[in-house]
Amino acid sequence: MTAVPSPIEFPHRHLLGIEGLSPDEITHLLDRSDSYVALNRRADKKTTLLRGRTQINLFFESSTRTRTSFELAGKRLGADVINMAVATSAIKKGETLIDTAMTLNAMHPDVLVVRHPESGAVKLLSQKVNCAVINAGDGSHEHPTQALLDALTIRRRRKRIAGLTVAICGDIMHSRVARSNIHLLTTMGARVRLVAPPTLLPAAVGRLGVEVFTDMREGLSGCDIVMMLRLQTERMQGSFVPSQREYFRFFGLDRDKLKAANDDALIMHPGPMNRGTEIDSELADDITRAVILDQVELGVAVRQGCLDVLSRDLPELDHNV
Ligand code: ASP
Repeated sequence: MTAVPSPIEFPHRHLLGIEGLSPDEITHLLDRSDSYVALNRRADKKTTLLRGRTQINLFFESSTRTRTSFELAGKRLGADVINMAVATSAIKKGETLIDTAMTLNAMHPDVLVVRHPESGAVKLLSQKVNCAVINAGDGSHEHPTQALLDALTIRRRRKRIAGLTVAICGDIMHSRVARSNIHLLTTMGARVRLVAPPTLLPAAVGRLGVEVFTDMREGLSGCDIVMMLRLQTERMQGSFVPSQREYFRFFGLDRDKLKAANDDALIMHPGPMNRGTEIDSELADDITRAVILDQVELGVAVRQGCLDVLSRDLPELDHNV
C-alpha cells in the first residue's frame, strides 16, 4: 500500500516530543497512522515503503508494548529491524550514551527508536547521529507515540478531539504519558483535567493549561474520557502514597467513581496496568467502557505512521556504492 501524500509538511527530522508540534502536524501524523489500521487487519500486512532501510530499537529501559509495536511497525513497512535491549546497570550516564550513539551511527541506520530512563537523553542522542530518531519514552519527560495512539483511539471512537473533556488520573508527576497527552490534547482543543493526590502533581502544574482536582468524583464529573495512569514506583524516591490499598480507595477507578463521568465515558490506560491499584480489575476488562486493547492495536498503526512520515526526509538509498 502506498500512503496518500498529504499537502501538509512535517518539517522535523526527529520525533522527540509532542510539545511544540502544531495542530496541523499532529493531524498529519494521525491521518497517516489511521491509513495503516485497515492494512493491519488484513492477512498480508506487508508493504515495501521502508525496504532497504535499517531501524534500530535501542531500549535502555524495559518495555513490552512499545518495543513490540515498533518492531512490528518497522517489519510491516519492510525495514530491517534490530532490537537492542541495553541493561541500564551497565550504562554509565553521559559518555556511554554518546559512545553508544556514535557506534550505532557508524552502522548507518536510517531510524533509531530510543527509550531511556533519563529525561532529555533521547534529544542528546539525536544531536549525535545522522539518522531520524523517535523518542519511545525518556524518563518522566515525553512519550510522543503513546499520546498519538491515545489521540487516534479517541478520534476513531468519538470522531473528534476538540471540545472533549479528558481527565488524566493518577501519578501525573512521574508520567511521560501524561505530559505528552497534556501537550497533544490541549493543542488539539480538548479540555484537560488532572486528577491526583497533591503529592503526585508536578510543581509547575499551573503552567500546563489544565484544571487540577484532588478528588476523583469532582474531577470525573461530566468528562468524556477517563485516562488512568500507573503508579510509577520505579521513579519514586521515597513514599508518595500511604499504601496501595488506600490509594485505590481514593484514586482507583471503580464503578462507583466512574458514575461521576458521562454515561458513555471511555476508559483508557497506557499499560502496564496494576489491577486493584489504579483500576478495578473487572472494569478494566469491560469492553463496553474500556478501550485499552484498542490503544494497543492502534499503537502499531501509529508507529507505522510515524516511521512513514519521518522516512519521507531520509536520503535516497545509493545502490551504486
Ligand atoms: N508504558 C508507559 C510508559 O512507558 C506507561 C507506564 O509505564 O506506566 O511510560
